[in-house]
Amino acid sequence: MAATPPTPVKQHIHISNQPITVNNWYKHINWFSTTLVLIIPTYGLLAIPYTPLYRSTLIWAFIYYFLTGFGITGGYHRLWSHRCYSARLPLRLLLAFVGAGAVQGSIRFWSSKHRAHHRWTDTKKDPYDALRGFFFSHLGWMLFNQDPKRIGRTDITDLDADPVVVWQHRHYGKTMMTAAWLFPMCVAGLGWGDWWGGLVYAGIVRACVVQQATFCVNSLAHWLGEQPFDDRRTPRDHFITALVTLGEGYHNFHHEFPSDYRNAISWYQYDPTKWSIYFLSTLPFHLAHSLKRFRHNEIEKGRFQQQQKALDARRSALDWGVPLGDLPVISWSEFRTTCQQYADGVAGGTALVAVAGVIHNVTDFIAEHPGGRTLIGSSVGKDATGLFNGGVYLHSNAAHNLLSTMRVGVLRGGQEVEVWKEEAMKKVKVLGAGEQVTVVRPLAEGAVAA
Ligand SMILES: [Zn+2]
Ligand SMILES: [Zn+2]
Repeated sequence: MAATPPTPVKQHIHISNQPITVNNWYKHINWFSTTLVLIIPTYGLLAIPYTPLYRSTLIWAFIYYFLTGFGITGGYHRLWSHRCYSARLPLRLLLAFVGAGAVQGSIRFWSSKHRAHHRWTDTKKDPYDALRGFFFSHLGWMLFNQDPKRIGRTDITDLDADPVVVWQHRHYGKTMMTAAWLFPMCVAGLGWGDWWGGLVYAGIVRACVVQQATFCVNSLAHWLGEQPFDDRRTPRDHFITALVTLGEGYHNFHHEFPSDYRNAISWYQYDPTKWSIYFLSTLPFHLAHSLKRFRHNEIEKGRFQQQQKALDARRSALDWGVPLGDLPVISWSEFRTTCQQYADGVAGGTALVAVAGVIHNVTDFIAEHPGGRTLIGSSVGKDATGLFNGGVYLHSNAAHNLLSTMRVGVLRGGQEVEVWKEEAMKKVKVLGAGEQVTVVRPLAEGAVAA
């Protein structure tokens, strides 16, 4: 009896892994996110020319911009994503409400994505991987459906244990619409009769600005600025990013020290989120408390290693002469013979001078010697250690540096060189980033289960 051929298992390929075509383009788009971060904001911006702007509404829009922005930076980000401090219930409720008004998803959604971003920075598992381009990290990852299997997993059990987070996630739609549009509209409407202006300016346009500011942390803060703590990944520090994001622009520091409640550590750097958290911690009842800071010693170590790395790069661009260990060992008689050939004008002869057991070829330098031809000429074929180090002339540091670029060999039995090598070995080396003994090479992807 002939065996029935096995039915081929139809593999489901996620839409994000299929090419965009005329027939499937609309399936690629995440319509829910696109409506909230593109369509409604665009509508708000288009309504501006037709909506008179009253001063009270403008001031209210600014105040609500700071409040909802702080809901993201002080709440979603530093409180819930990184647990940089603890907050009592009234503050958590306020942050959950104003945070929802920033129209960036629930705390649970936002923080789980953000934890994945920190854990898998610059990899395929990073939800807004900066290496996929500015547009993708800024907006693209929300406009297009993403394969959930691509994004790295993170632990959010602590968030699920917070009733405020669970409540906000469960009732996100209603909370968001109330906090983002209804509440700012009612304040302007009941306050000074500007219902429509309140909705457009303090509601839609204000939310659009807060969204774009936050998205800049994922895009701009991974592209623009300095890397004072570690340059092996994309996060960067820049004042401009800090300015538009209520202080979240010191992103190189933040990726290195994510549980620090500060993003800016110097007093003159702009970090109103840090100032607000600190201010709340000083109020009666301590609405914010247990503020976390990394030890100054650890922060300075990172900064020092990065400076050392930059110095090492500059150092390696300079000619320091052939390393001693790479030089050939030359006997005294070989040294003498070569010099004699030079004196006799025989081809292959070179003018060599021994200083501290190291042999230097000065053939081309004799004519340029600042102390004149005669002095250097009389040292050829000799051990000029004493002469070079003060016997005739105490040569400068620059002269020692220049001499090292002319070295061509070490003398057999040159005692000084051996001592020098030993000393060099004894010197404590400063460890650069990634050179600590605890660092191991990451396993190649897919090799884990092997
Ligand atoms: Zn980042
Ligand atoms: Zn973060």
